[in-house]
Amino acid sequence: MSAAPVYLDGYATNPLAQEAREAMFRALDRPANATSPHLDGACAARAVALARREVAELIGAAPSEVVFTSGATEANNLAILGVARQALAQGDPRRRLAVSAIEHKSVLEPAQALAELGFVVDILPVDRRGVVDLLEAADRISSETLLVSVMAANNETGVIQPISDLSAIAHDRGALFHCDAAQAAGKIAVDVVEWDVDYLSLSAHKLYGPMGVGALFVAATALPPQPMMFGGGQQKGMRSGTEPTPLLAGFGAAARVAGERLEVDAHHGQALAARLVSALAARQVRFSLITMDAPVLPGGISLSIEGAIGEDVVDRVADRVSLSTGSACTAGQVIPSHVLSAMNIDPKIMRSVVRIFCGRYLTASDIDLAATSIADVVARARLAPGGVHQ
Ligand code: PMP
Repeated sequence: MSAAPVYLDGYATNPLAQEAREAMFRALDRPANATSPHLDGACAARAVALARREVAELIGAAPSEVVFTSGATEANNLAILGVARQALAQGDPRRRLAVSAIEHKSVLEPAQALAELGFVVDILPVDRRGVVDLLEAADRISSETLLVSVMAANNETGVIQPISDLSAIAHDRGALFHCDAAQAAGKIAVDVVEWDVDYLSLSAHKLYGPMGVGALFVAATALPPQPMMFGGGQQKGMRSGTEPTPLLAGFGAAARVAGERLEVDAHHGQALAARLVSALAARQVRFSLITMDAPVLPGGISLSIEGAIGEDVVDRVADRVSLSTGSACTAGQVIPSHVLSAMNIDPKIMRSVVRIFCGRYLTASDIDLAATSIADVVARARLAPGGVHQ
């Protein structure tokens, strides 16, 4: 059997940390419902409480401010739909939302759903580097804005957004602030107090935990979202459903490890990304960084490869390297990425973009192998009859 491809698609998901796997198996080996009135139930409840503390600690929150969900998609929906419904129920007259143009679909779609119910959605534009424009944001967020939602780091470009500045603008206008930190948490320091956010979404599988679990931070002082899930009243009624103890244990362990390794991982990711960039250049691959001088997640690179079509590179190198073009969540649809479109990137350049995240478990030799494979594919594409020139 040939070796597994080098995995450079860490924005889509990251491999499970060994510590998370072990915590999950410990929970799986002692099955119990955390609400059951016996010793096994108490043991599961302790595992859930530990996970809640570990996740809270990663983001500087109190454990009671963490609501577990099935992932960042659900957390984003709960924040946006839940806050709007709560505000409506309380007779709040504000009917505007502001979301950045580069948000994940799990923010854009619920905002769109609210637009159909009479809310006005203001889109906050980004500059050419993919950073939300603060002057435009200050202009578009008003006293009629109920909620502002901007992600901490983008899932196609890795660009880190000025969250403290944006939350200050929102709060100055009396609006609530939500941040989708699915990509940022565990990769850069996330502090809900320092950032002064009311709500913050997390996804376990982006930080080397299991898929199918995430969380919404709801500040103790913020308007509580209306629940979307009704049933047994778990998690103080905010999110009914039996707590999935093994998933939560894995999430908690992954969050703890990510917090402990924050600097080591960042340094490692940065070193590997720099190695990849120089190895590609040394192998005559011509490219530019589409994010220019914007701050990006350590380990992230978004490359426009001259003379190549992103999807072709991804396809042809797939048996040796796992890479991605636009957002993996919308891959398969032949529509230009809304993120790159918002950055006003020329459509020809847009098609030549590949996104890369160099994660914790990659080695220098993985990166060298990936660089050789990518360079080989790009050179062949250029030499092929009808090869792309731009
Ligand atoms: N937000 C962002 C920025 C993401 O990258 C993703 C995953 N692609 C999500 C939300 C959705 O997360 P989940 O897979 O946990 O639903």
